[in-house]
Amino acid sequence: MNKKTHILADKDREYLWHPFTQMKDWVTESPVIIESGNGVYLTDTNKKRYIDGTSSIWLNIHGHRKKYIDNAIKKQLNKIAHSTLLGLSNIPSIELAEKLITLTHKSGFALDKVFYSDNGSTAVEVGLKMAFQYWQMRGGRYRKKTKFLTLENSYHGDTIGSVSLGGIDLFHKIYKPLLFEGYKAPSPYCYRCPIDNTYPECELECAVKMEEMLSAHHKEIAAVVIEPIIQAAAGMVISPHGYLSKVRELCTKYNVLLIADEVATGFGRTGRMFACEHEDVSPDIMAIAKGITGGYMPLAATLVRQEVYDRFLGEYKEFKTFFHGHSYTGNQLGCSAAIANLEIFEKEDVLNKIQPKIKLLGKLLSILKTHPHVGEIRQKGLIAGIELVKDKNKKTPYPLEQKAGIRVCIEARRMGLLLRPIGNIIILMPPLSINNNQIKKMVTITAEAIKTITEKGNDNFYY
Ligand code: PLP
Repeated sequence: MNKKTHILADKDREYLWHPFTQMKDWVTESPVIIESGNGVYLTDTNKKRYIDGTSSIWLNIHGHRKKYIDNAIKKQLNKIAHSTLLGLSNIPSIELAEKLITLTHKSGFALDKVFYSDNGSTAVEVGLKMAFQYWQMRGGRYRKKTKFLTLENSYHGDTIGSVSLGGIDLFHKIYKPLLFEGYKAPSPYCYRCPIDNTYPECELECAVKMEEMLSAHHKEIAAVVIEPIIQAAAGMVISPHGYLSKVRELCTKYNVLLIADEVATGFGRTGRMFACEHEDVSPDIMAIAKGITGGYMPLAATLVRQEVYDRFLGEYKEFKTFFHGHSYTGNQLGCSAAIANLEIFEKEDVLNKIQPKIKLLGKLLSILKTHPHVGEIRQKGLIAGIELVKDKNKKTPYPLEQKAGIRVCIEARRMGLLLRPIGNIIILMPPLSINNNQIKKMVTITAEAIKTITEKGNDNFYY
């Protein structure tokens, strides 16, 4: 470790509190301090270069220091960094809204209006408040529609509203006294089916269970909130084909709104621009964030159908206004980055170009299928989750306190690949701009790290 890193590491320990991090462990670790980035690579203050295997927590799309986005932000900065959308408008936020609506229409979605915020949690929070208020505006018996139906294992962010929708005990349980109650349908997690069934013979029994809940309680349910196709923070749990379209069908049948949380899955990650496209599903409300700016700036948006928007219109004195808005809503730098991000998708034909990379990733990962401690490999597009197990036949997970996932990622880091696990699941989510050689390197290092950590002796991992 060089002197500069030493000094920064000491200050980091003294002043910083890192998210989702046990800071007691952090004190004993030597932190990687990133100084610069280029393409899929990040470089730390010791001049060590790493592949950014998680796109800096599922954000980066076209690589770091992408000239086109850099220039768009610089150009905007020469005009203005920020002015408010409360009572005013600004050029990039208008242009981006038009682009987002055109884009989602191309995806087959009937979404017509854009409401900005600045992170995934707030994009979801906005969606759930809109859904709630929508039914209040409709009045009469609809006023009873105040609850939300979500999935076990779901993750929609860290604000109290989005945590209320969540279903991951490790993150959410402690806050229970603060949360509002709702309904939870089983997670479509085929590898560990919560209702002990097997796809496809099950005929989507998890969706049948959801229907039972909707049938009994639809009069009090405002919306179903779902991470379409992939429950990301659950460990990249991919729903079986037909599940999402069934959920859409149920929402229509029982007159509840469908809120699609595309925060993790949007912007090409799954091989299509949005995950809902895989099953031709058009949500009523859609939350997007993360990749919207190509991983450059904190920006998010909640898109809604015209009919939802129209319910908020009225005379001022009726107070139908959506009384919600964040200080940085519609920030010009963020919107300029997002416009450039979307233009690159078109200019560089990104969605077609990633198709062979998706196949290559699948082919390379299949080598790990027979590994005695790899329970399941789940892949959709350029997203993969490798579930590590202690006992493959019994699907026994490693106890969390053994930190199997964390150890694998530390080993991968030593070899020049930055990953972040979710429990026992190793997540790969590189920028879409990753090339074939970099994919090979990423998978080779991941496989090596898994072998080194899991094979060096039973319960006492090598470390
Ligand atoms: N929704 C989903 C599906 C997510 O995966 C995340 C973050 O991982 C969020 C919401 C929250 O986004 P943010 O961290 O930007 O608040």
